[in-house]
Amino acid sequence: MTVGNDVARLVAEARDGQARAVARLVSLVEDGDERLGQIAAALTPCTGQAVVIGLTGAPGVGKSTLTNALVRAYRAQGRRVGVLAVDPSSPFTGGAILGDRVRMQEHATDPGVYIRSMSSRGNLGGLAAATPQAVRVLEAAGCEVVLVETVGVGQAEVEVASLADTTVVLLAPGMGDAIQAVKAGILEVADVFVVNKADRDGVDATVRDIKGMLTLADRSGADAETWRPPVVRAVAERGDGVEDVVAALAKHHDHLVAHGELTARRERRAAAEVEHIAVGLLRSRLGTVKVLQELAADVAAGRTDPYTAAHTLVGSMA
Ligand code: GDP
Repeated sequence: MTVGNDVARLVAEARDGQARAVARLVSLVEDGDERLGQIAAALTPCTGQAVVIGLTGAPGVGKSTLTNALVRAYRAQGRRVGVLAVDPSSPFTGGAILGDRVRMQEHATDPGVYIRSMSSRGNLGGLAAATPQAVRVLEAAGCEVVLVETVGVGQAEVEVASLADTTVVLLAPGMGDAIQAVKAGILEVADVFVVNKADRDGVDATVRDIKGMLTLADRSGADAETWRPPVVRAVAERGDGVEDVVAALAKHHDHLVAHGELTARRERRAAAEVEHIAVGLLRSRLGTVKVLQELAADVAAGRTDPYTAAHTLVGSMA
């Protein structure tokens, strides 16, 4: 069997809802397999329809508990759901994270739910690039909602979560999260804030902190049409407030659609994705270009300057 047929068969099986094929495709994407181009081409006809929701926040804040509750809520609406648990800081994969994710076990036997973990395998940039491909695999498998949960907190996690249509930032009372969130650049990417563990003391102060920071960040140019991230309280463990989170997510989605922002966001993401792939292609080509070695020798010897050399190099690749 040729490689091309292999990919076509896997994609056909994934579309048919076969969990093993879905898992295999996500692994190939995660590994940066050389067949990525073929996989992407085969997936494309069945993608573009899913709602993609990113969830980020510090460890222990309740992301997986909330994700689990959201899966339950979307399943109750009859929608098929995919979950990608992305861990940029972990070199482990393939269930290493999910092994601990007891809260997700409830959905393990539901054929309308796919749950997969992905890790960096030592390649940070690669993971951000692989995530949208993995989302497409889940879409092709019929998922109407894809939840992308990042396991840690930091710049890489924020980057991954913000690949979604709607990004949810979770905080909990008394964790100094609000300050950390600002440091990690979370404020800019959050479309919905959830203050989880609202059964604990300090929830009012946390809500106030976030609202205060949002007011500060509110640019004077923002008008009534501008989306202002709501701050939703939840006790994910008990399922309290989950309906409010679902409602806030739906409202944000409607806002994006009504303002042409959904398409605009997706186009911006696609542009970044194409650019990333193109730069990778160019770089791999550069590595094999003899002209570069000659130009490098000229620059090193002071016979030419690096700008002129760069122009010459780009010109030679056209
Ligand atoms: P994650 O690391 O962000 O995914 O957090 P988890 O979902 O694993 O939750 C961390 C801990 O917080 C677990 O022991 C949960 O049972 C607990 N937890 C989750 N939601 C709530 C909540 O609303 N209130 C309280 N008190 N505990 C919660």
